[in-house]
Amino acid sequence: MALDLLHLQNGQEFCSFEELAEIIKKWEEVNFVTLYTRSSRSIEAARRRAPKRTFLDKLKYSEIDYACVHGGREYKSQSTQKRLCQKTFLKDCPFVIKIKTTLDGEKLYIKEIRGEHNHDLSEEIFRHMPKQRRLDSETKDEAVKLLKLRANKKLLQNHLMSTTGKTVTLKDLHNIAARNVPKFRNDFRELVEEMKSIKDSTFTAFVDEESMLKAIYFQTPEMKNIFASSPLD
Ligand SMILES: [Zn+2]
Repeated sequence: MALDLLHLQNGQEFCSFEELAEIIKKWEEVNFVTLYTRSSRSIEAARRRAPKRTFLDKLKYSEIDYACVHGGREYKSQSTQKRLCQKTFLKDCPFVIKIKTTLDGEKLYIKEIRGEHNHDLSEEIFRHMPKQRRLDSETKDEAVKLLKLRANKKLLQNHLMSTTGKTVTLKDLHNIAARNVPKFRNDFRELVEEMKSIKDSTFTAFVDEESMLKAIYFQTPEMKNIFASSPLD
């Protein structure tokens, strides 16, 4: 199928939701526009609404509105009744692509592309949008593994950016670590109790003039035996 990715057009048809989603994704990348699904109606809901019409399963939705991520989604805070913007990138952009099913229920088509963006479209801003920064699960697994090994976050960031071509922020890595990497505990009292609970072990803590811990000397009976039986010279 010949496809002009730069110019989605009214009336353009798609044989399945999968095809539509793929094309929309490519279109976003070429045009530096991040869309989100502002509203949709599933095929199941459409069938309940219009029992006489038929819809192919592979269309998945009978209606989808893709709106620019900078579009208005304003929330009213219940406590103050003030209008609040949930995210700083909301600029009330009116751009929207409306998708519907054809009358025969066999295809999806672009019913309308409406509105002009009221903001700049730059590659840099586009690459920084959370949706574009999302890493695939394989890359994320790799990041988690390296973070567990206490990899330097700045180096890991460079590595992920060069291997995926995506923008990865240090905050993204911080969030991945916070969700996936167990915290290293640093409870000295607990550590001392644990060491002291081992029978016949030797425990000595070395502190400096300011009572800051410098070193711990610790041997279990087993360690003592091994040291005793292996002459050092
Ligand atoms: Zn926009």
